[in-house]
Amino acid sequence: MSKQSFIPMAVPVLGKQELSYVTDAVKSGWISSQGRFVNKFEEQFSTFCGMKYGIAVCNGTVALHLALATLGVTHGDEVITSPISHIATVNAITLVGAKILFIDSERTSWNMDPDKIEEKITPKTKAILVVHLYGHPMDMFPVIRLARKYKLFVIEDAAEAHGAEYKGNRVGGLGDIGCFSFYANKIITTGEGGMLVSNNKNFAEKARKLRDQAYEKKRRFWHKEQGFNYRMTNVQAAIGVAQMKKIDKFIAIRRRNAHLYNSLLSDVSGITLPPEKEWAKNVYWMYSILIDKKKFGIGRDTLCKELKTHGIDSRRFFYPIHLQPLYHNFKNEQYPIAEKLSRMGLNLPSGNELTQENVKNIAQAITQIHQNSIS
Ligand SMILES: *Cc1c(COP(=O)(O)O)cnc(C)c1O
Repeated sequence: MSKQSFIPMAVPVLGKQELSYVTDAVKSGWISSQGRFVNKFEEQFSTFCGMKYGIAVCNGTVALHLALATLGVTHGDEVITSPISHIATVNAITLVGAKILFIDSERTSWNMDPDKIEEKITPKTKAILVVHLYGHPMDMFPVIRLARKYKLFVIEDAAEAHGAEYKGNRVGGLGDIGCFSFYANKIITTGEGGMLVSNNKNFAEKARKLRDQAYEKKRRFWHKEQGFNYRMTNVQAAIGVAQMKKIDKFIAIRRRNAHLYNSLLSDVSGITLPPEKEWAKNVYWMYSILIDKKKFGIGRDTLCKELKTHGIDSRRFFYPIHLQPLYHNFKNEQYPIAEKLSRMGLNLPSGNELTQENVKNIAQAITQIHQNSIS
């Protein structure tokens, strides 16, 4: 197939509005972190999440680090999280010197199994860092109940789930601090970028201070604690403000495409469709399926290669973090459901620009590959 007809995982959808706001920012001379777009983007995105405060930062990874630092999570503390996520989730925990406690995934939502959390909590546990994997929210009320009972903080890694809902509440707005990424392939983008959202004024003030070198308010260049430069630029925020006008449309496109994929793939043997629990609104950052090699005819990796010859991009799921060389000290721990998801999971194209025609072509290719492999 020709290069032009290659269907990528996602490309950022940028238009006239983005260009116009970026031009405004450049013309104004405010290209660092001062300037009207940063405040505006913080206000708009935090409101979108149903939260009072937004703290824009330079990427999603530092958003996680800043959230942990803001809550005072440090050496000797423990943080509960999922073994199947982007590496940034656990690297942030390592960066503050805390110990990671993994909880296996649940079969149905693919997120942390809420029934397995309590048994891991110890007197040293300080926070639960929830991941809303591939756009499907975590079952949050059990997490919030445990957090109250054991006085733990709840941080949401919502980098993949802008606008996803748990029982009618947008993710990022359910814990103490919600963290987002605006990397180019996320649901909205600022190129590189991230944000913390919170309803807690103290957390918001602390995060703002640490984001900006922890300058003492009344005495500039005077420092009582260690801060960082995690600021977002006005140029990034200009793109963000333009993207906010489209976020509802982007989510609607993703859901429409996911429903079309579902209807076209539901009869293909050996494919598990992505979850959407009765209490959830999945935003399908990725359109994620599981491939059962025996029933489908070929395994996930072979399907991925075959799709490439049809001009269709796809991606395996994340590797389980406890099996990564970087985290070899966890290699004897077992999280069988996370491991199984990682072995079987494949993400199909799901960008904001993906057309229904594209989805039909992808589903047709998968059906054809399946039929060839079982005949
Ligand atoms: C993308 C992502 C991050 C990191 O965000 P960056 O902006 O790339 O630093 C963190 N966690 C999850 C779950 C992600 O998908």
